[in-house]
Amino acid sequence: MSSETIFTKIINREIPADIVYEDEKALAFRDINPQAPFHVLVIPKTAIATINDVTEENSHLIGHLYVVAAKLAQEHGFAEDGYRVVMNCNEHGGQTVYHLHLHVLAGKEMGWPPYQDTKKGLA
Ligand code: 5GP
Repeated sequence: MSSETIFTKIINREIPADIVYEDEKALAFRDINPQAPFHVLVIPKTAIATINDVTEENSHLIGHLYVVAAKLAQEHGFAEDGYRVVMNCNEHGGQTVYHLHLHVLAGKEMGWPPYQDTKKGLA
C-alpha cells in the first residue's frame, strides 16, 4: 500500500520543510513539532505506509533510513553522546502520518520507558 500523504508533498516541494539531507532514496527534514533539540524525520522517497507494509523487496529502504540517521547524528555531533531512533506503527504505536518514517531525536538525555502507561496496566 502506498497512499499519498503530506510527506509526498514535502518530497515534491509542494509544501515547505526544513530539509537537512537528501539522496536518491531518502529525505530528512526537521519535525514541525520537535520533541528534542534535534528532531528530524527520515523518510523513504518511495512511500511505504507502515511497518506492516515492509517486505523483503522494499526492506533495503529501511536499512538505508538507518544509514541516513547515523550519518546525521555524526554530522550534527550527537553520535558519541547518543540519540534515539523511533518508528511508530499504527494507532497504538502513535503513528499519525502513514508514510513510514524514522524519528531521530537528540540533544538531550531521554528517559526510558518512553511512555506513560496511563490507559491500562501491562498485564
Ligand atoms: P508519527 O506520529 O506519524 O510517528 O510522526 C509524524 C510526525 O510528523 C510528527 O512528529 C509531526 O510533528 C510531524 N509532522 C506532521 N506534519 C508535518 C509537516 O507538515 N511538516 C513537518 N516538518 N513535520 C510534520
